[in-house]
Amino acid sequence: MRVLLNLMRRDATSRAEDQPAARPRGQQQTVQEPGQLMRQPAESEQHQAQQPGQPRQSDAQSGRAEQPARSEQQTLVVEGPARPRIERQAVTRVFDGITCYEVPARAAIERVPEAAELPFTYGASPYRGCESGCGYCTARRGHRYLGLDPGRDFSTKIVVKTDLARRLRRELGSPRWSGEPVALGLTGDCYQPAEEIYRLMPGVIRALADAANPFTVLTKSPLVLRDLDLLRDAAKVTQVGALVSVGFVDDRLRRAVEPGAATPQRRLEICATLNDSGIPCGVLMAPILPLITDSTDHLMATVRRAAEAGAVSVTPVVLRLPPGAREWYMGWLECEHPGLVPRYQALYGKGQVAEDGYRRRIAEQVRVLAETYGIGRDARRWRRRRSPARQLALV
Ligand code: SF4
Repeated sequence: MRVLLNLMRRDATSRAEDQPAARPRGQQQTVQEPGQLMRQPAESEQHQAQQPGQPRQSDAQSGRAEQPARSEQQTLVVEGPARPRIERQAVTRVFDGITCYEVPARAAIERVPEAAELPFTYGASPYRGCESGCGYCTARRGHRYLGLDPGRDFSTKIVVKTDLARRLRRELGSPRWSGEPVALGLTGDCYQPAEEIYRLMPGVIRALADAANPFTVLTKSPLVLRDLDLLRDAAKVTQVGALVSVGFVDDRLRRAVEPGAATPQRRLEICATLNDSGIPCGVLMAPILPLITDSTDHLMATVRRAAEAGAVSVTPVVLRLPPGAREWYMGWLECEHPGLVPRYQALYGKGQVAEDGYRRRIAEQVRVLAETYGIGRDARRWRRRRSPARQLALV
């Protein structure tokens, strides 16, 4: 467990903390071109368990695992059968220590699992994995299916769906598509630092705007403001919304569990800017960490700050612990708050979600606070009344 914590700390110190857009990205360091690039993995193959050190029959036969890398820094790429499956299917590039696997999108629009308890039915994401490396991120488990670990690999090995916009256009134009709202960025922040390099979101936004398909952008990153004009243009033809994720406003805690993400203050400023620019932006209070950020003081501070930022809504989501996220988060908890481990075990049992009564209580507390601060009603008036000098006052 100590190892896990050290890795999280190393992540925290190795990243720019607040300004992904200003982060200097090094030149591409490594390019690896496998023999059979862009091959679409079969569904069954994606979920097939791979034993470390045991090459799959098909790879041994095709010789893909033995393709020599044409990189100058071959030591950066693990050779042989232990290489993750995704590495044999993608173009691999390394930027500033972050490995990007470029793949074609198997599907652009994906159904959001009900268990995620998010207010969306469909989502699309240019990236799988996320440099923010939030310890609780429920998208971590997806890395397992790629032959990667859901721990450190999740924040250092990013899958990039380079043709997402083209694929999305095709699916949006299909007579079978119902035109339902699409949430962007559920399997990795769509404005994470890799977006500075790949610039996939402008194409995605244009595709949705051209189809007049409603959409919501989920992010913690100030890079979303780069596309403000595009979002405004899209809002002229369809319903466009945004959600910034701010589960708590304690920046010390943010450093521990959201090491690569912008500060809560910066995220709330993004929320304010989007709202002031005509893009309705709410706050996804995700996640609320039981026994850590669920006190009345924490909840009140977060909802108040959301109101100050003019958030049009506030949606509480209590921490979920699906496989992948569970090991990583509980490892951190054991190091930092060992006394809480038995209480988490009582609250979650072997399940992924906290017990119903607890979640209902939190939802009700946040609902009452949101009403108190006029979120969705008169948050802006409250902001002007209470914070005349500065829109976003610190707690
Ligand atoms: S920013 Fe979002 S997608 Fe990225 S690690 Fe954090 S919770 Fe996951």
